[in-house]
Amino acid sequence: MQGMMMHRPLLISEILTYAAQAHPTGEIVSARTEGDIHRQTYPETAARVAQLAHGLGKLGIKIGDRIATMAWNTHRHFEIYYGVSGIGAITHTINPRLSPEQLIYIVNHAADTVLFLDTTFVPLLEAVRAHLPADMRYIIMTDRAHMPENTLDALCYEELLAGEDTHFEWPEFDENTAAALCYTSGTTGDPKGSLYSHRSTVLHALMVVLVQADVFSQGVKVLPVVPMFHVNAWGLPYIAPLTGMTMVMPGPALDGPSLFKLMDEEKVFSAWGVPTIWMGLLAEIDAQGRPPEGFGDIVVGGSAAPRVMIETLENMGVNVGHAWGMTEMSPIGTHGNMPPFVADLPFKDRIDIKSKQGRRVFGVDLKIVDEDGVRQPHDGKSIGEIYVRGNAIISGYYKNDAATKTAIDAEGWFGTGDIASIDEQGFLSIQDRSKDLVKSGGEWISSIDLENAAMSHGDIAMAAVIGIAHPKWDERPILVAVPAGDARPSLAEIHAHIAEHFAKWQMPDDVIWVDALPMTATGKVSKMNLRKQMADYVLPDLRT
Ligand code: AMP
Repeated sequence: MQGMMMHRPLLISEILTYAAQAHPTGEIVSARTEGDIHRQTYPETAARVAQLAHGLGKLGIKIGDRIATMAWNTHRHFEIYYGVSGIGAITHTINPRLSPEQLIYIVNHAADTVLFLDTTFVPLLEAVRAHLPADMRYIIMTDRAHMPENTLDALCYEELLAGEDTHFEWPEFDENTAAALCYTSGTTGDPKGSLYSHRSTVLHALMVVLVQADVFSQGVKVLPVVPMFHVNAWGLPYIAPLTGMTMVMPGPALDGPSLFKLMDEEKVFSAWGVPTIWMGLLAEIDAQGRPPEGFGDIVVGGSAAPRVMIETLENMGVNVGHAWGMTEMSPIGTHGNMPPFVADLPFKDRIDIKSKQGRRVFGVDLKIVDEDGVRQPHDGKSIGEIYVRGNAIISGYYKNDAATKTAIDAEGWFGTGDIASIDEQGFLSIQDRSKDLVKSGGEWISSIDLENAAMSHGDIAMAAVIGIAHPKWDERPILVAVPAGDARPSLAEIHAHIAEHFAKWQMPDDVIWVDALPMTATGKVSKMNLRKQMADYVLPDLRT
C-alpha cells in the first residue's frame, strides 16, 4: 500500500523562494572583486536571480545546458548557482587552480556553452580560449564601469540583468534533473565529473542543517572560505538560505589579514575552510593578539586538521568541527558536532576526539573493507578503505564509464580511496590514502601524473612522488628519482621539462637522487616504505 502524500519534487529554486519569504532579513555580504563590500537580502537576491533567469532565457539557454563559472565566492556566483539550476540548466563550477591542460579538458568534456567569469580570470581564459568551444559566450561578472579590456567579446553581467522582470515563474521538473557539475582532480588521470541532481542537493543541504542546528539560525553569520568553484563551498550556498544565516562572501582575498578584517568587521560567528586557510588566519590572530570579534565556531575539512590547530582554536574559545567528505559526496560525509559527553571530558581527551574526522551525517552510510573486500568491524582498531553510499553520493562519473566501473563496488558502494577506522561511538579516523595523491593547500596533485612526466626526461630512469607534511600547505610533493646514467638534472631543469603539463604549485619542491626505490612484492614502488625512508626528510623551505 502506498502512502497518500503529495509528491512535490525537491527543487533548488524552492530553497531561495523559501529564504526570501521566511528569512527576509538574511543577507549575502560580499567582498567584491570591485574592492568594496556589497550587501543584499535574500528577497533582493531572489529578485536578481529572477532577472538572471530571464537574461539566460534571452541567451537561448535551455534545460540541460552546461553553464560554466570561474569565480570567487560572491553574491553574483550565488545568483548563478540559483538562476542556472532554477531553469533546469547545469552550473559547471571550474576550479581556476587547475592546470591549463586540465581546464581545457573539462570545458570541452562538459561541452559548456556559456562561461561566467570574474574579472580576475580574464587573462587566464584569454590564454586558453583558442582551445575552448568556438561558440562559447563569455560573461564577465561586473558592471559596465568595471569591465576590463578583453578579447573574449564578453557580455557584462550587470547588463544581462538590468531591466529584466524581478519575478520568475520557476518551472517544475523531475527532481532527479541535473543541477550542478564539478570535476575533481582528486583521482589520477583526467579530472572526473560529479553531476549533482536537484534532489541530491536539497537532501544534502537538509542533512547538514540537521547536524548544525545548534549553531545555525537566522541572523548568524557564516563565512564560506571553502570555494564555490570546488565542492560547492561544502553546500553552504544551499544550507545558509535554509536556515536564514547571513553569508559573508570573502571574494578573492583569502590571506590571513584580509580574512581577519572581514570577519572582525562583519562579526562572523562560523567560518568554513581547509586547514591551509586557517594557518593564515591564526598567524594574523597571533599578530593582533586577539581573535576576530564574534568568532565562535569553525568547520575544518578537506585535509586533516592538525591537532595543534584544533588546540589553539579551542583554547581561544572557538568550537572546532572537523569534517570529512569529498566532491563525489556533495561533499559532506561526516561532521564534527559533538555528543554531549564530550563537553565534560578533560581538555586533552576532548582534543583527541575532535582530531578524529567526526561522525556520519544522516544519508551517508559508511563501511570499511580490507584489501580482500571483507567488511571490518567498527571497533576503532580495524583499518580499511572507506566505502560510502547515500542520497547525495555519485552513482557514477559524468560520461566516464571506465572511471565509474573502478569507483563503484559490486554492492553499489562508492570507494573513497581513504583508509580509516571507525570506533564504537561512530567516529571516523582517517589514517592514510590509497589513492596516489598529494594534497597541497586543499588542492590535489596527482603523483602518478608527476612521475610519468618526470620519467619522460631522458636522464630519469624511475621516479616516485610522495607528499611531505608542510605546516602551511598540509603536504608538498617531492620527487625521488633513480638516474638513468651519470647526469642528474637540477630541480629547475625538471620543472622546465614538465612545465607544460602542470601548474606552478603542482611542481615538486625537491628532487632526491637514489640508487633504487623500495619495491613491493608485486613489483610496484612501495610508497609506504619510501615514506618511512624519508621520515626525517625536511623540505627546502623549512630548513634552518
Ligand atoms: P575533494 O574531493 O577535493 O574535496 O577531496 C576529498 C578528499 O580529501 C578525501 O577523499 C580525503 O582524502 C581528503 N579529506 C577531506 N577531508 C579530510 C579530513 N578531514 N581529514 C583528512 N582527509 C580529508
